Parts: sequence; C-alpha cells; structure tokens
Amino acid sequence: MTLLRFLADEFSKTCTACGACAAMCPALTATDPKETPSAIQGHVRAFLEGGPPTGTVIDRAQLCNECYQCTVDTCPVGLDPMRTNLLLRGCLREQGVWTQGVFIPPSDPAGDERVLAALLTTSAEFKRITTPFKKGDGRFLFFPGCNIYSMPDKLLTAMDIMDRLVDDWSFLPGLSNCCGGNHSTAGFLTAERAAMDGLVDAFQKDDFEAIVLWCPTCVTLFHLSEVDLPTVSFARFVTDRLPGQTVAQEDIGSITLHDPCKNHFLRIDPGAPRELLTQVTGKVVLEMPRENVCCGYGLLAGSPEDGRRWIQSRLEEASDTGAGTMVNICHGCHWFFTGPQWTPDIRIANYVTLAGQAMGIRHEERFLKWRRWGDPVRIMVDVGDRIDQLPWPKDRIEAVIRKAFAPEMATESSS
Ligand code: SF4
Ligand code: SF4
Repeated sequence: MTLLRFLADEFSKTCTACGACAAMCPALTATDPKETPSAIQGHVRAFLEGGPPTGTVIDRAQLCNECYQCTVDTCPVGLDPMRTNLLLRGCLREQGVWTQGVFIPPSDPAGDERVLAALLTTSAEFKRITTPFKKGDGRFLFFPGCNIYSMPDKLLTAMDIMDRLVDDWSFLPGLSNCCGGNHSTAGFLTAERAAMDGLVDAFQKDDFEAIVLWCPTCVTLFHLSEVDLPTVSFARFVTDRLPGQTVAQEDIGSITLHDPCKNHFLRIDPGAPRELLTQVTGKVVLEMPRENVCCGYGLLAGSPEDGRRWIQSRLEEASDTGAGTMVNICHGCHWFFTGPQWTPDIRIANYVTLAGQAMGIRHEERFLKWRRWGDPVRIMVDVGDRIDQLPWPKDRIEAVIRKAFAPEMATESSS
C-alpha cells in the first residue's frame, strides 16, 4: 500500500465530516463557498474513499495556505485538517487532476531557486552560499533552507551576521538539503519524508550546540518533530547574542510586524522577532488589529481575485497602524507582499535587512528591485554579462525570471 493510500484510508475511517475545519478556515471562507462546511468535508472524505475529484475537493486542496491555524484544537476526532489538504494534493496529482504546475525540487541542478540565486549574486557570492564550511570548532550550525535562495541578499546578510556574532560556526547549504516542506506543499508526501530524514542525518553528523534555522517552515517542522535536536530560530539566536541596542541605520519610521503564520499559530517564540526589531530599530512594534493573517499564497493561486483582496487588506491594515515600514520574517511573505501589483502606502522590509543595516552590513536588494520592476526585459538587461557565466540555457533562465517576477507572463510554472 502506498503512503498516500494508507493516509487516505486512515482519514476516511476517522473523519466525521463535521465541517469544523472548513468552517474556521480563513482562506476557504474568503472565497464565500457555496456549500456548507460539512458538505465540503463530505466531498473530501468521499474522494479519499475513492470517489470523484469534484471542484470542491480541488478548491479545498488548492486554497490551503498551510497556516497551521486549523491544526490547533479544531478537529474533534484528533485529525490534522491541514495535512489532509496536502494529502488531497498528492492524490489529485496521482490522478493527473491537480495540475498546478510542474514541481521542480530545490535540489534539482536547474531548479528555480538555484537559477535565481546564481542570477542575483556574483560567482564568489554564489560559491559562498552553496558550499559547506566549518569555522573553528563549528559549534553552531546555520541552515538556511531552500526558498531563501530566491533572494540571496538576505542569506548573505544572515551569514555576515553569523560571522559578526560567533567565530565557530558551520554552514550547511540549502537546495541540496531540504526539510521537505517544498515537497509536501506540492503533494509529494513520500519525498517529504525522505528529505526530512536526510536533513536529520546531516544535523546529527556533529554534536552541535545549536542548529540555527533561518526558514519559519524549517522551524515549524523541527518544532513538531519528535527528533531531539537543539534547533533555534535565527531571530532567537541573534537576539540573544546582540550586544544590547545596535541602532545605526536610515530612518524607517515606526514599524509593524507581519508574523510567519506557522510560527504564530503554533506559538513558537513570538517574542524573538519583536525583541530583535526593538534592538535594531530602537522602536516597539506597532501591532496590527488582526494578530496574524497569513500572506495568502494558497488563496492567491486558487482564487486570484480573493487572494489579491486578501493581500491588499493586510497591507492596508499595516498602513493603518501608522507605521512607516511593515517588517516580515518569512521570505515567502516578503515575496507575496512585494509584488509589482501592490501599491502599499508603507515600505516592506525583511527583518534580516534591518538587523544587517544596524550592524553596518548591506547587500543590494536586487530581488526586491526586480520584483518591483516586474519587467523581464529590463531584468535581463540588468543581468548583463552574468548570464554568460551560467550553465543553463538562456530560455530556461528567461522562464525562471518570468515566473518569479512577471508570473502573468510565465508559460512554465510550478507549485
Ligand atoms: S492550514 Fe490554514 S489555510 Fe489551510 S486549511 Fe487550515 S486554516 Fe485553512
Ligand atoms: S474537523 Fe476533523 S472530523 Fe471534522 S471535517 Fe475536519 S477533519 Fe473531519
């Protein structure tokens, strides 16, 4: 029996189709569904029992933002409704029904993240972020995950910060190593397990005092994992080591913070980014009325108009706090809030950029510049001679640029 079939059977036997999970899902309710929550979950259960892949099932799978909200105290029979949505994606893919793009894993030699990382760096910088190393005793291991490679200025800044704070640290690059989050998002649950097992093996190769995780998804998966490893978020690691107030940067106005949904709903150290931001800006975070709203990536893909409204309303909410800058922690949120289609009345910044600036570390935010341009032709001009040094055909590079910076023009996409 395959893993997907096993999980589908387990779910079908236990789910009562009460609809509690569908009723509380903010992404689903944002689409004003025509069926009751119980009827929606009835479709899901029937499909996993071997029934038809109705439009309702496809919507339920696609719209999930993986925010983890429904995983906490929602299901009366102890199921994880979010995992069920990932299972749906896998089963729909297996049947060739869910065709939301081709999935290219980050480890692929021509994967999107790798191509973007190379385009956005010099060859020396690219080598630095893709090569493992150990400094001194290598007591602390820094693992950046995969998706941050799409905006390598943040990774380079984080590595410079590690250098300033500790002498003896090791670096395990992402791309070839992955927590599996990318695979499960695309419905590949077997590959997800293999990726996580491989990463745990890599983490256990040495007796690290702390394993510093950049990505909120990695933080979440290791928080939930039963493997006992000394993982810590980058925000917490830095906050605990900064020598008090370190403010020396341009005036960014007051700040508000968009938390990573996963960390927020699981209550994983929400104080760390706030403490860090106060240390590096000298300001207290102005909280938005809605404590946490996911960036809405699933909603944007599954119901673009509702997704656009969702993002715009979050940006307006941030602006209404009176803050001059909305800070995000997750590079995924950064991606979604910096699209060329938004005209926010507020600056968007990632916390690592602000922390770096406070420490005198600056890397050009080229990703952000290209994202704002949203113009593949202009971006290709900006790439310049770098393209001749890269091992991929020009049409592959152009496809990656279109997908990342002008998705409405992309002919090739992935989940
Ligand atoms: S994880 Fe979030 S978006 Fe997905 S089903 Fe649960 S509440 Fe909805
Ligand atoms: S809350 Fe649990 S039992 Fe109810 S529909 Fe959702 S998964 Fe099924």
